[in-house]
This record gives sequence, C-alpha cells and structure tokens, in this order.
Amino acid sequence: MFRKINGLDKQRDGTNTDSRITLDSLKNNKNLTHLIEEIRKKTITLEKENCKIEYTWIKAHAGHYVNELADKLAKEATRNSDICYNKFPESEIEHQERQKSMEKWQQQWDHATEGLTTKEFFPNIKDRLKTKFNLTPSFTAMTTAHGKTRSYLHRFKITEFPECPCANGNQTADHLLYQCNKLNSDREAPTGYISTEDNWPAKKTRVGDQISKTVYRFYKLN
Ligand SMILES: [Zn+2]
Repeated sequence: MFRKINGLDKQRDGTNTDSRITLDSLKNNKNLTHLIEEIRKKTITLEKENCKIEYTWIKAHAGHYVNELADKLAKEATRNSDICYNKFPESEIEHQERQKSMEKWQQQWDHATEGLTTKEFFPNIKDRLKTKFNLTPSFTAMTTAHGKTRSYLHRFKITEFPECPCANGNQTADHLLYQCNKLNSDREAPTGYISTEDNWPAKKTRVGDQISKTVYRFYKLN
C-alpha cells in the first residue's frame, strides 16, 4: 500500500489493493495499528495536495500493472535483510503475553503435586478456561476430592467404614461417578449426553468439560 501511495501519480485519484483486510481496517475507526495509521496520514497529506484518494479492491494476480509491481516490490523487500519492521500492535503484545503466561501456568500445573484429582478432570488450563459452567459446591467437592464421601470421612475417623451402602466398594468420588448403583438413575442424563460421542465410562476430562452442568448430581451423598 505504501509503495502504491508513494508512487501515486497526482493526476490519479484512486488506489487499488488486493487486500480486503487493509480496506476493512481503513474503514474501521477502532483500528489504530501503526501501518493503518500511516496510510491514513499519507492519505490526508495527499488530499491536502489536491488528490482525491479512493481505495478500491481488485483481484490479485490478475495482470494489473501497479498491483503486480507492488507484489514484486513486497517480495523484494522480504529478501532484503536490511529492512526490519518490528512494530507490533498493542493487541499482538497482549496476545503474546497472555500466551506466555498461559504456558507458564500450564507448566506449573503439570508439575504441581497437589490437586491431583482436579488435574484428572482438568489437565489443560486453556481448555478449562474455555469451558463455561456454574461452579456449585457439589461439583467443586467432586473435582477436588473434598466431598463428604464415606471414604473421605473415614480418613478423618468421622465414619466407621469407608464402604458405600450399595455394597459395591468404597465410597469415593470415582465410585459415585462411575459405579455406585444407587446413583444409576442420576447417571442417565450425563451418560446419554456422553454416549452420543463417546462411550461410558467417559474419561474425567470429558466429564469435567462436557457434562459439568449435570454431573454435580452424582454428589448426592448419604
Ligand atoms: Zn455406592
């Protein structure tokens, strides 16, 4: 774009580009990125010199002389190691910083020795942040293994036995989620949801991100 504007013959009053993104960016008053602002400034300068500037989209590689010339110059510029453009828009810096902080967070989570149960449900920070659901006390209890299951209470000598009243094993969060036959009817909704794409028992990662809205119902403790 710059080259075309710089080389613009004053007798002409139009500038062609094959970049729709550039045209859209010029029209968007909220786009204040460096290059777009530079184009606007050039336009104002040229208009003060009695040029009427209009930007028009044209098809790329369709034999337009000036467009082909701009392409050629742009390609030459990429091969010229003396030219270095290092201005980033603010949004790009924000994006990069967010990425870095996410990677750091993920590394810390990967190496964390606490929260192992939660990690089984949510191993990936990015996926967890993308998942929207209402956190309820029951759901939090299940995904942190801090619910009042008999197994948990037994560890603290609050209940005499860790076994579930269903007599099918110790009453842990996993038991309630996957095995307890007292919760068969509660399991129907999430099982049905999961079985459209996967088989039950679903992995905890899927339980956490796909059916979190209904899964808390498993935590009806007795
Ligand atoms: Zn049970």
